[in-house]
Amino acid sequence: MLERLKTTKREGWRRFGINHGESISDHMYRMSIITMLCPGSLASKIDMNRCIKMALVHDMAELLVGDITPVDGVLKSEKSRRESTTMDFLCKDLLGNVGGGDAGVEIKRAWQEYEDSETLESHFVHDVDKMELILQMLEYEKSHDGRIDLGEFTHVANRIVLPEVKQWCDQALEDRKAYWESIGKTPTGYQNAEQGQDAEKKKMSDEYYSGQYANGNHKEQ
Ligand code: ZN
Repeated sequence: MLERLKTTKREGWRRFGINHGESISDHMYRMSIITMLCPGSLASKIDMNRCIKMALVHDMAELLVGDITPVDGVLKSEKSRRESTTMDFLCKDLLGNVGGGDAGVEIKRAWQEYEDSETLESHFVHDVDKMELILQMLEYEKSHDGRIDLGEFTHVANRIVLPEVKQWCDQALEDRKAYWESIGKTPTGYQNAEQGQDAEKKKMSDEYYSGQYANGNHKEQ
């Protein structure tokens, strides 16, 4: 079953013709490592084990639900419902008798903490989720020698909450700027991260990436 996380591609890149891109587990694996690279000032305030577990399981439901992206027209509340049902199936039906059921309970707990997005740990992992996306965006632009402009993804940087991650992300966006300058082009998302996106598409995308619409409850931070 978990193999599906290795074989299911992240959908966002396909629209740009990147068909052999990263899988869901590729994304979660690198997020786990980025989480471990947390700066000391933040690491001393958070429970790192919980963060790493969240990074490892937060998109696990996609092995059955698929990677639903903002452009798919599925409401965030419906996406949440499908994923929650899937996690119950995995953690209770399949893992309920494994090791006395403890592993299933722990996986669901980590997934739920990320989904609820109420703890500092979950805010950090949500930020890392966006950071990983920005890094991958930049890598795809470079590996395609600037023929693909993925600037529409840069707006997720605006939703990063913690200053430590914001700083990482600003550095990555500076690198992006330097890269495009080096090949004599100006990509979208260059001066204004929201450039090139119509308002409706952006709003929907923000809701998806904000993590604040968990279970349909909108919580402003
Ligand atoms: Zn993710």
